[in-house]
Amino acid sequence: MRIDLHTHSDRSDGSDPPAQLVANAAAAGLDVLALTDHDTTAGWAEATAAARDTGLGLLPGLEISTTHDGTGVHLLAYLPDPDHEPLRHELQRILDGRASRLPSTLERLREVGIEITADDVRRAAGPAAAMGRPHVADALIDLGVVANRDEAFERFLSPGRPAYVDRYAADLVAMLDIVSDAGGATVIAHPWGRTARETLTSDVLTELARHGLDGIEADHQDHDDATRAELHELADRLGLVATGSSDYHGEGKMDCSLGCNTTAPDQLERLLDAAAKARTATGRGIEPVLP
Ligand code: AMP
Ligand code: FE
Ligand code: FE
Ligand code: ZN
Repeated sequence: MRIDLHTHSDRSDGSDPPAQLVANAAAAGLDVLALTDHDTTAGWAEATAAARDTGLGLLPGLEISTTHDGTGVHLLAYLPDPDHEPLRHELQRILDGRASRLPSTLERLREVGIEITADDVRRAAGPAAAMGRPHVADALIDLGVVANRDEAFERFLSPGRPAYVDRYAADLVAMLDIVSDAGGATVIAHPWGRTARETLTSDVLTELARHGLDGIEADHQDHDDATRAELHELADRLGLVATGSSDYHGEGKMDCSLGCNTTAPDQLERLLDAAAKARTATGRGIEPVLP
């Protein structure tokens, strides 16, 4: 069983349409895939239909923009009811924040002499429901300003660079409650990756586990081998599920292909148990597509 629980489609900042993502996952020899676009469920229907046709297992999920102690934290949510009102409300607020940030980002790029319009970004974003900096980066590539997304982030879009603009993110602890009330399970994405390591100390993760967090993503390309080992050990100690995933973005980010990191079958089973428990407790949540 090969299991990849963190991937993006073109409904956020990946490049594959959801059905293509499912086909690529099957071709890569995966048995179970989770679709976890940033802050949107817009790809779920297409991915679910494709998974049923293909015989691939699928967990519809999300990677939600949250914040804890002033630091951005990406929270993976699996199998929540997308119509649960508090969840819909928060996701809409995040998407609105993404959209309303764009004019200021473009204004700042124009201040450093780059002629770029909202239409350029919209064209680059295609069918994306969650608009983000990667789409601004893609527009800059199309305009010939940078060669790739990495260069766009380094020169313009990362915090501290001239076109960085903050946006709304949901409170992490509140979001843990919202997702479990929606019948879903929660896993913190790349907890000790590029940005949140200082904030998400072992003590903080211990507290979050007490608060109902179900798991942490241990195997991710932003974690070196020592970090992965520490996170596995911590997950064991705290009774958290430990996952491994590619965080695949198609051509958007070529550092890790589908299945480059995977989740052990027993860990998936525990994650599905956590979601099933939340589903029973709340009467909400959705079922995975089983392979
Ligand atoms: P945003 O959603 O607008 O906050 O943009 C953050 C997203 O940009 C992350 O989820 C990554 O997928 C992507 N990203 C962050 N840093 C880089 C980078 N250096 N190169 C390419 N993509 C990046
Ligand atoms: Fe992304
Ligand atoms: Fe992330
Ligand atoms: Zn991701």
